[in-house]
Amino acid sequence: MQDKIITVSSPVLPPLEEYVPYLEDIWKRKWLTNNGHYHQELERELSAYLKVPHVSLFANGTLGLILALKALDISGEVITTPYSFVATTHSLWWNNITPVFVDVDPDTLNLDPARIEAAITPHTTAILPVHVYGTICDVAGIKEIADRHGLKVIYDAAHAFGVEENGKPVLRHGDLSILSFHATKTFSTVEGGAIVSHTEEMKNRIDYLKNFGYVDEVTVIAPGINAKLNELQSAYGLLCLKHVERAKRVRKRITEFYRTHLRSAPGITFMSDVAGTSPNYSYFPIFVSKEKYGHSRDELYERLKQNKVFGRRYFYPLISDFPPYRDLPSAARSNLRVAATAADRVICLPMHGDLTDEDAGRIVELIKW
Ligand SMILES: *Cc1c(COP(=O)(O)O)cnc(C)c1O
Repeated sequence: MQDKIITVSSPVLPPLEEYVPYLEDIWKRKWLTNNGHYHQELERELSAYLKVPHVSLFANGTLGLILALKALDISGEVITTPYSFVATTHSLWWNNITPVFVDVDPDTLNLDPARIEAAITPHTTAILPVHVYGTICDVAGIKEIADRHGLKVIYDAAHAFGVEENGKPVLRHGDLSILSFHATKTFSTVEGGAIVSHTEEMKNRIDYLKNFGYVDEVTVIAPGINAKLNELQSAYGLLCLKHVERAKRVRKRITEFYRTHLRSAPGITFMSDVAGTSPNYSYFPIFVSKEKYGHSRDELYERLKQNKVFGRRYFYPLISDFPPYRDLPSAARSNLRVAATAADRVICLPMHGDLTDEDAGRIVELIKW
């Protein structure tokens, strides 16, 4: 029998016929972009769904990160994690900011507050942590250090769509949080993203910056950029929002399936939920210990691939190992031992709303080697 191809993430496309009425309405309105009807509606709906006061939509998450740093006038050096998608650090480069990598906590794989203070210099202006895999950072620890040193905190929350702790959104932490709505993320506008801010004043500033700095027809207050989300994608987002809960229920079931069936697999470990938080089940990373498992991470990765199961080594290599950053003093692997160990062992297993128990069962059998 020909095995079905299973990928790490797959966009859960809503039924096409549900998208058609949106398109017909856009054709009727003849308003394709520039803060249109669906753009405004999606900002409102997202702010209700995510329980946050202000959402500014973006053409993608990377532009959101770049502009968040601009909106807060961040410069000099910024402390960040090497264990993330490369866009986190690239957003600093695009602002002429020097990244300073700090190691992560072994339990959460998020920036370790205990190590941040030693990396602060007179040039440090901000901290850029990531809620990696949607696991909440030690937000209290990070805030305490930031407040003591007068630093801003910008959360890359690209993985944390809808994650809550005791009923409150993780997006409320920090000065700003950034989301990504790329097709591979749990909520999608094909390409897209957002900045979550706390005040109307800040939302306005961000909205000017993403529209060339225009305040009105004849006034430009800053050298802004074009990072607007168009009407077709905003409408697609509104439609996807109707299906996010269903997809999340599937991911939760698959997560539980993996946990149950991999618990006894020697040399394979995985992360557990942080107490008091409601996760979004968007990733399922496993960590392969060669000594106990008998095969290396890359051997398992290849075995899965040969059987048409496409895991991803998120996040390997570390961002700090890429050529633009590897010569920075903070990029030395001796400075980033926890992150380096995770990067060398990780495989993210397929996790999306179209997976079946049968798919998950096939994956588990391949892992039990
Ligand atoms: C996806 C992602 C981004 C980039 O978002 P885009 O919308 O693809 O530009 C940034 N940071 C993290 C951690 C991501 O996973």
